[in-house]
Amino acid sequence: MAGEDLIVVGAGPAGMTAGMYGVRSGLKTLVLEKGISGGLSNEAPEIENYPGFNRVGGMELASKIKEHVSRYVEIRELEKVEKIEVSSNELVVTSDKNSYHTRAVVMSTGTRHRRLGAKGEAEFAGRGVSYCATCDGFFFKNKPVAVVGGGDSAVREALYLQNLGCRVTLIHRRDKLRAERYLQQKLVDAGVTIRWNSVVKEIKGDKVVKSVILDSKGSKGEGAESELPIAGLFISIGEEPNSELAAKMGVALDANGYIITDKSQRTNLKHVYAAGDVTGGVRQVVVACAEGAVAALSAYNDLL
Ligand code: NAP
Repeated sequence: MAGEDLIVVGAGPAGMTAGMYGVRSGLKTLVLEKGISGGLSNEAPEIENYPGFNRVGGMELASKIKEHVSRYVEIRELEKVEKIEVSSNELVVTSDKNSYHTRAVVMSTGTRHRRLGAKGEAEFAGRGVSYCATCDGFFFKNKPVAVVGGGDSAVREALYLQNLGCRVTLIHRRDKLRAERYLQQKLVDAGVTIRWNSVVKEIKGDKVVKSVILDSKGSKGEGAESELPIAGLFISIGEEPNSELAAKMGVALDANGYIITDKSQRTNLKHVYAAGDVTGGVRQVVVACAEGAVAALSAYNDLL
C-alpha cells in the first residue's frame, strides 16, 4: 500500500483537472472513478460556452480533457470509493478494489439526476422514461416525446430531440423558463410545443410508455387533467449532489446537501477539498475545471 499525496474522487471535468494540477505541482496523485471519466458532462448534447470551443459535444469535450490530463495523471475507472477514514496525519481511502493511504483528498463526486416522483416513473425507467436524451434519444426518432423541466438542461434536451426528428412537447410546471435567454429563443425558433403550468401526474403504458397524465393550471388558476400520447418521457428537472461519502467522513454540507467550501475549495476537514458540481453554485464545465485546479493547488500549498 504505497502512499499517495493526493487522491481525487470522481473523474468529471473537476476531478480530471484536479488530477492534472496535482501532478504538475509535484504531488503523487491518483484519480479514482466509479464509472467512466467525464461525469454528467458526457450527457450534454452540445456545449457552446466552454471558451475556445464554439460548439462541442459534452462527450467529445470530456474525452479531450481525459486525453489531455492522462499525459500527467492516472485515472482508474470502474473503481468505486466506498469509504474514507480521517486520522490526524493521513486519510485512508478504501475502494472496491484497493486501499490507499494519502495525505489529501479532493471530493469531485458530481451530481445525479433528480427523480420526478410521478406514478409509473420507476416502473417505466428504461422503457420510455429516460434522464439522458443524448444516450436514448435515437430510439425515439420520428416519434412524439416529452421533456419535463424548464432549465438549461431541459431546453437543450428538447432541442436535441427535435433536431433528431422527434415531435417534442416541453412540459413545465410554471409559465416562465429558467433556461438562458439564448436557449429560449432557440426553442421558439425550433417550434417546440410548450405545455405551461403543467405537472406530470402519472406515466402510463403497457410494456413501454404510451402517454402521460398532466395536471395543468388554466389562466384563472383552474385545474384540468389531460392525457398526452407519447413514446418517450425525458426527465430533466435538475440534479442532486453525490455527497453521501463526504457526509459520512464528516464533511460539512449545506441545506441542499452540497459540500461547503471556501474560495480555495477547502472543506471543514483538514486536507479535504471539494470541487465541481458537488459544491453547488454555478454548474458549468468551465467552473468545475477551475475549481478542480484551485483545489489541487490548495492541497499543494497546504502540504508543502
Ligand atoms: P435547473 O437549472 O435546476 O432547472 C431545473 C428545472 O426543473 C427548473 O425549471 C425547475 O422548475 C424544474 N423542476 C425542478 N423540480 C421539479 C419537479 N419536481 N417537477 C417539475 N419540474 C421541476 O437544472 P438543470 O437544467 O439540470 O441545470 C443544472 C445546472 O447546469 C444549471 O446551473 C444550469 O445552468 C447548468 N447547465 C447549463 C447548460 C448550458 O448550456 N449553459 C446546460 C445544461 C446545464 P422551476 O423553474 O419552476 O424551478
